[in-house]
Amino acid sequence: MIVVLKENYSDKQLETLTGWLKEKQLDVHISSGSSTTILGLIGDTSVIDEEMLESLEFVESVKRIQEPYKNANRKFHPKDTVIDVGGVKIGGGNFAVIAGPCSVESREQLCTVAKAVKASGAGLMRGGAFKPRTSPYAFQGLRGDGIELLEEAKKETGLPIVTEIMDISHLPLFENVDVIQVGARNMQNFELLKRLGKVDKPILLKRGLSSTLQELLMSAEYIMAGGNEKVILCERGIRTFETATRNTLDLSAVPMLKSMTHLPIIVDPSHATGIARLVKPMAVAAAAAGADGLIIEVHNDPPHAACDGAQSLTPEAFDDLMKAVTKVRSCIE
Ligand code: PEP
Ligand code: MN
Repeated sequence: MIVVLKENYSDKQLETLTGWLKEKQLDVHISSGSSTTILGLIGDTSVIDEEMLESLEFVESVKRIQEPYKNANRKFHPKDTVIDVGGVKIGGGNFAVIAGPCSVESREQLCTVAKAVKASGAGLMRGGAFKPRTSPYAFQGLRGDGIELLEEAKKETGLPIVTEIMDISHLPLFENVDVIQVGARNMQNFELLKRLGKVDKPILLKRGLSSTLQELLMSAEYIMAGGNEKVILCERGIRTFETATRNTLDLSAVPMLKSMTHLPIIVDPSHATGIARLVKPMAVAAAAAGADGLIIEVHNDPPHAACDGAQSLTPEAFDDLMKAVTKVRSCIE
């Protein structure tokens, strides 16, 4: 980190600042020119609040040289992280597809969909038990009962379970869940992230509706700093001025994140577009862009889905998507 001082700083101010920085275990290199004094801070600067430094009256500017995310940073971990979920690998050239309904509705619905997506090549199944809905009057999910149905479907199909947690107090219900999802709306629920840092399970972290890639990585950092290095990132569309689609799928996030981090990155074209017929082209594009996997909403009867029917694929449409994605992957490998 580089700190440029204003011309009129006093020796006392410099001494106080360098003393404070040294207390933070940083080495401070001072270069004094005829009109400018620059401090070079060496060490773990992630503990420094750059805005606070910048607000000091004798500081001209502050520039971070190194990114504030350490654990997620590819610089310190050049090899891709591979996450193994009950034998299904994600990352480092392993492509995994998570598929299933937006929300768990019934035993029959879930088992029908789980069997169908497995037959088409999905490696994991999804299904929301706790649903983050914009309206408090909309279907909120089957909650604990939904998780039990997911466990039953896992027994029948062998597919590992991916489901969303909305509150730390629900964690005991997730004991048999294979991948805990943190939804877009909770990407910056820092207490939840900290608690998940102490869990020995992979975490699927979805990008917030208006979050930058650095903010996404800082949220991953919260989980990793707690000791849980098994984080899968998910690009699920961001909010822009465009209203023709539910969100705007930021596909450039995939190659960009690949250069910033070693963590696997999957894409959710269902929530990104909100329109079933756009899911296949965007899934194919995500595979071509180098994604490590996909998460796709599939329903046996989309017009009657309790949630997100408009973006849900029928099992047949999902099968068609899988064939197209497999073709594209064979071309780019
Ligand atoms: C979901 O995957 O069920 C979901 C609610 O997605 P998001 O958090 O991306 O909106
Ligand atoms: Mn949904």
